[in-house]
Amino acid sequence: MRHFDLVIIGTGSGNSILDPRFDDWDVAIVEKGVFGGTCVNVGCIPTKMYVHTADLAAAPAAGARLGVDAELRGVRWPEVRDRIFGRIDPIAEGGRRYRAEDCPNVTVYEGLGRFVGPKRFAVTTAEGEQVFTADRFVLAAGGRPVVPDVDGIERVGYHTNEDVMRLAELPPRMVILGSGFVATEFAHVFSSFGVDVTLVARSDVLLRGEDEEVAARFTELAERRWDVRRNRKAVRAERHGDVTRLHLEGPAGAEVVEGEALLVAVGRRPNSDLLNLAATGVGTHPDGRVVVDCHQRTEVDGIYALGDLSSPYQLKHVANHEARVVQHNLLHPNAPVSTDHRFVPHAVFSSPQVASVGLTEQQARARGVRYVTATHEYAGIAYGWAMEDTTGFCKLLADPADGRLLGAHIIGPQAPTLIQPLVQAMHFGLDASTMARGQYWIHPAMPELVENALLNLPLN
Ligand SMILES: Cc1cc2nc3c(=O)[nH]c(=O)nc-3n(C[C@H](O)[C@H](O)[C@H](O)COP(=O)(O)OP(=O)(O)OC[C@H]3O[C@@H](n4cnc5c(N)ncnc54)[C@H](O)[C@@H]3O)c2cc1C
Repeated sequence: MRHFDLVIIGTGSGNSILDPRFDDWDVAIVEKGVFGGTCVNVGCIPTKMYVHTADLAAAPAAGARLGVDAELRGVRWPEVRDRIFGRIDPIAEGGRRYRAEDCPNVTVYEGLGRFVGPKRFAVTTAEGEQVFTADRFVLAAGGRPVVPDVDGIERVGYHTNEDVMRLAELPPRMVILGSGFVATEFAHVFSSFGVDVTLVARSDVLLRGEDEEVAARFTELAERRWDVRRNRKAVRAERHGDVTRLHLEGPAGAEVVEGEALLVAVGRRPNSDLLNLAATGVGTHPDGRVVVDCHQRTEVDGIYALGDLSSPYQLKHVANHEARVVQHNLLHPNAPVSTDHRFVPHAVFSSPQVASVGLTEQQARARGVRYVTATHEYAGIAYGWAMEDTTGFCKLLADPADGRLLGAHIIGPQAPTLIQPLVQAMHFGLDASTMARGQYWIHPAMPELVENALLNLPLN
């Protein structure tokens, strides 16, 4: 039986571990799907390529308020789709070819893999089952969309992020089940392209993980744009010709929504159940995430895990960071480094955009943390006037004792870009007053939003 120095399961963030320092290691990489994983193929990258295109499609309508009469004459969906995947598919194939053909120390196994004993792994490939052992494993098998238990949903058919970006044509109407970042990003994309969107949410607000004021503002704005059904449970799906009907239960009783396409975006679960981890003794949390310590080590010596398989964050920048930690710890097991999850930012590329880092106000309250808070609106800065933005704001939470930032939340144009200096301040322990007054802020640029929010904090 073949024995490797290292086996990596999953070619998303796991594939980035191998650099020239591993050239004298005998390595196997296992991939059941498309090389490159979620982010490049069905996640961050294609969605943001669509979001940018959607922002352009939405611009003419936004221009009218500013006295610019432009018209959207149409969106050439097949062209948009083929441009995006014409760029992405060769990257995935190039990555696969590079590992399979140009890395002599790497063996690529293409197929679904699972443990069949302690540090013993089997992969079902086109050539049959391959079984091998290794000293070290990196589990980087990611996650997949959760499909809710709705009677008839399998029969009627539905889309997820894995196929909805490759639709043959745009449907006239789309029902989106979900209210998190995936659901609201796709709602923005498809509605900007002219699709009539109905969003069905279990919760009372959309983006319910965000700071309560941000979630409330986002929900209010979403309801102006899409048919939003909150506090609804989908109970049954049926297909009539080209139309899917979804039966809902809500505060006002039973109701039906319908569309030519149904998109399921209610969340994701880790792929740990595919790996038969019990055979090698690796443990999982009740939600399926692999248990790791601060060095990304599982409970079994020599087996590491990273990314969506083990992380509560399900973000690519977190998976990348964890991959760098695993990389170091493989090379230097006696001097391991730790993962830093103190200030993990995230963004929602919907419309409006949202970005956040650190504590929300409801978390600070629940944890009994002492804080002061301040808000500044885009409408209160010069560039906000230029854009005539009347709904966006930046909200900060800070420690009244030393002025350090505890949380930052932005809803509005360019939120994911505007938040970055606040992430930096939190990481490097910069207090709010020093950050606000210790540097120039370009006038009249959008970061004046952050400057003013900092100055509004009631600190001595
Ligand atoms: C629609 C969408 C949009 C997103 N947008 C963003 C964003 O804007 N910003 C952001 O930070 N994050 C975003 N994410 C999240 C981000 O994509 C993930 O956090 C990240 O890709 C996880 O990387 P990973 O390496 O852990 O797993 P993955 O990239 O999912 O890689 C896991 C790989 O393992 C393979 N695999 C699984 N099980 C097995 C097995 N048993 N045998 C063999 N192979 C196996 C899978 O086929 C897959 O290729 C988005 C996700 C989605 C779904």
